[in-house]
Amino acid sequence: MRILQTSLLTQKVKELFIEANVDIGPSLVDRLRSAMEAEASPIGKNVLAKIIANDEYAKREKIAICQDTGVSVVFIDIGQDVHFDGGDFNEAIHEGVRQAYKEGYLRKSVVSDPLFDRKNTQDNTPAIIHLRIIPGNEVLIKVMPKGFGSENMSTLKLFAPSVGIEGVKRFIIETIEKAGPNACPPMIVGVGIGGTFEQAALIAKRAVLRGPDHPNLDPRYYELEKELLDLANRLGIGPAGMGGSTTVLAVNIEHHPTHIASIPVAINISCHASRHAEGVL
Ligand code: SF4
Repeated sequence: MRILQTSLLTQKVKELFIEANVDIGPSLVDRLRSAMEAEASPIGKNVLAKIIANDEYAKREKIAICQDTGVSVVFIDIGQDVHFDGGDFNEAIHEGVRQAYKEGYLRKSVVSDPLFDRKNTQDNTPAIIHLRIIPGNEVLIKVMPKGFGSENMSTLKLFAPSVGIEGVKRFIIETIEKAGPNACPPMIVGVGIGGTFEQAALIAKRAVLRGPDHPNLDPRYYELEKELLDLANRLGIGPAGMGGSTTVLAVNIEHHPTHIASIPVAINISCHASRHAEGVL
């Protein structure tokens, strides 16, 4: 049994949220750069150049990539041989978020009640926490400050199996088209197919977390991702919705076994500021 102090978890969560908010990471910058080179629309090219310059400036000056510093989503895989000591596990994560958003000068974007008073919690808590138990004695942490221009354009539907692959493709492309400029394109589109109502949404978000460089290992889904990327980039929405061939940087699909009577499909959209960072304890 490995004993870990919850203070280490707080520290790691804090570091990761500050890192994710100021540094988009080399793989996304590389993808934006190649999109800029390939973009035929002069306005689209110009928008991509500004996005890249903004990302570089944020990293250099250690300031937020975007004013929308998002809801703090935390994915934690805990080795089954780990025991946390030193205080409440969930509170340790919330405290990491609290410290990151204060010390990193990040906008506090969370309201305590979604419908009535909508008062800002003033520290970006509570975090949304997704836990999994895995073999071993390590703790893998991935954080995602999730902007809501794109989150608001996400959707979920449960289809009868008769809709088939073509119906699923149509739903995904229509969702991207509807998202348009509101999702701050170019987007990363996470698709969760299968499971149940809530599982489809969760794997769609995990698909976003894969970023632009990790296509599906299953050749059937790999081909589907490529086809959907191509179809999406023919929509003409372009960077910032100003027209062009760079609407989507990646379509990532995660799939899961499901019920004989259903094809659940969730689509979680992320903007060009598709931020995440990861660490291990
Ligand atoms: S959707 Fe993304 S780029 Fe647009 S405002 Fe929100 S975080 Fe920023």
